[in-house]
Amino acid sequence: MRTSQLLIPTLREDPGEAEVVSHRLMLRAGMIRKVAAGIYTYLPLGLRVIRKIEHIIREEMNRAGAQEVLLPILAPAELWKETGRWEYYGKELFRCHDRHERAFCLGPTHEEVITDLFRREVRSYRQLPLNCYQIQTKFRDEIRPRFGLMRGREFIMKDAYSFDVDEEHAKRSYQKMYEAYHTIFTRCGLRFRAVEADTGLIGGTMSHEFMVLADTGEETILYEETGPYAANVEQAAVPPPHACSDEPLQPIEKISTPQAKTVEDVCAYLKIPPTRLVKTLLYQLKTGDVVAVLLRGDHEANEIKIKRYFGAADLALADPKTVQSVSNAPVGFAGPVGLRNIRIVADQAVYAMRNFVVGANETDAHFINTNWDRDFTVEAFVDLRRAKSGDPSPRGGGRLREAKGIEVGHVFLLGTKYSQAMKATFLDQAGQESFAVMGCYGIGVGRTAAAAIEQNHDGKGIIWPVPLAPFHVHLLPVSRAEAVERTTRKLYHALQDAGVDVLWDDRDERAGVKFNDADLIGAPFQIIVGDKGLVKGTVDLKYRQTGQTRGLAPNDVVSSILHQLSPSQ
Ligand code: ATP
Ligand code: MG
Repeated sequence: MRTSQLLIPTLREDPGEAEVVSHRLMLRAGMIRKVAAGIYTYLPLGLRVIRKIEHIIREEMNRAGAQEVLLPILAPAELWKETGRWEYYGKELFRCHDRHERAFCLGPTHEEVITDLFRREVRSYRQLPLNCYQIQTKFRDEIRPRFGLMRGREFIMKDAYSFDVDEEHAKRSYQKMYEAYHTIFTRCGLRFRAVEADTGLIGGTMSHEFMVLADTGEETILYEETGPYAANVEQAAVPPPHACSDEPLQPIEKISTPQAKTVEDVCAYLKIPPTRLVKTLLYQLKTGDVVAVLLRGDHEANEIKIKRYFGAADLALADPKTVQSVSNAPVGFAGPVGLRNIRIVADQAVYAMRNFVVGANETDAHFINTNWDRDFTVEAFVDLRRAKSGDPSPRGGGRLREAKGIEVGHVFLLGTKYSQAMKATFLDQAGQESFAVMGCYGIGVGRTAAAAIEQNHDGKGIIWPVPLAPFHVHLLPVSRAEAVERTTRKLYHALQDAGVDVLWDDRDERAGVKFNDADLIGAPFQIIVGDKGLVKGTVDLKYRQTGQTRGLAPNDVVSSILHQLSPSQ
């Protein structure tokens, strides 16, 4: 295609609104424009990348035996009420009414709609397994839409739903999707990792997230350096301590710790490392109950694990007023000794400790030489802390390392949560009504494009992985000389005829402007056609990734590009 015939409004300056590099570069390269918070128009370049990702997804989903459908964006409230999610989903669910005052929502995901289809259309085990997918616009009224396509309110998602006769077959469907996702992200040319993920309270039984590795990612993952285990930090388990301390128990003693409220303050005042202190976090559950969680001073709470332990839909650190009424002291002095009428649970690391420091439930006071069982009791020692780099792997494969990632895909074994709620049954081999066992599988298409940029860019612009590039070759004539024009035109047609995606910068612009735009837009190959080179019988092939340039005879361009696009041929 020709630049003069495409809307590619590149920007020289960084747009102020963009905080992350992918958002900045998508705006600067003229790929997207904002219409409202979290709502974007895809311009031709942006849409080409989206379509390339969709194409790869379609091929792999079809290959894995899934079939494409297209569900409506608008869904009736009744379906969402059947599963309870009309209430549960909260404000992220965008609700609206039609002219008859009937309630609808814009689909943020489609379990309800697809389960409704299943219960109407599928009768027998003979029709299973069934896996339907769509590539469609989703709407989630995200509280903080940000980072361009990374966290939009309106965004394109591939979502798939599998139905099986039992758990074992559902796991097979899950495994197929897991493998398809591996192939999809590999084909996209991305560096990624599949990690074990939290399944939530009423969620399913198995879940993996696919993370594109990038320092700017919002998610933290932990992985074994030498083994296969990798997990979202929310999920990563910490193995129990090897042995208890064998220090003799010392007598407990209350001491004054004026103004020492934080772990750092107390440790500095008492000249002890934080590993000698146990902090007491007071959490308020959604039910209103307050509970105490004990953690070693240098450890961080993992609220997902705490929620799971208490079976709580939600929890938050208790507010200062509640802390005062429960512990008789302002925030910073709570401790387990003498704390009455509330549940106390300790992280397993506390089990290994002796003679530690805790808050005394009194302003400006702590206990030293505290010991569990002798001075207070806990209902259990469990894994409640956030795993971190350097921790031993829960699977025994050495130490864990931390990395940042962007969640681009998610596979989830749902079990019968939705089929039970919506009575989606089939007749099994014995003629009995049985609930379908489901899985759901999402890929953020726009987020994948953004993640590709986060992973592949430099100071000048985007460096597209070949499979996602809006154009493979950017053809850049540097003058209007007749020989330049003629060679460019010939190359343009030859590349097009060979099936190469080529963008010809046919604008009447200075060479410098064209070069800057080409580096910004990020096609992997640039062909620079200049007067001087043509005198020697060559054009320049510049690699966007390395900036290296080499001369080529115009007649060799097509074969060289084709070879590099698919080196195996
Ligand atoms: P997140 O934790 O980032 O909000 P999620 O767990 O809500 O993601 P899923 O419901 O599993 O996401 O959706 C499937 C996929 O859709 C995600 O893996 C992600 O790639 C994409 N996605 C989710 N929310 C957004 C959004 N607001 N903007 C763009 N893509 C999104
Ligand atoms: Mg979300």
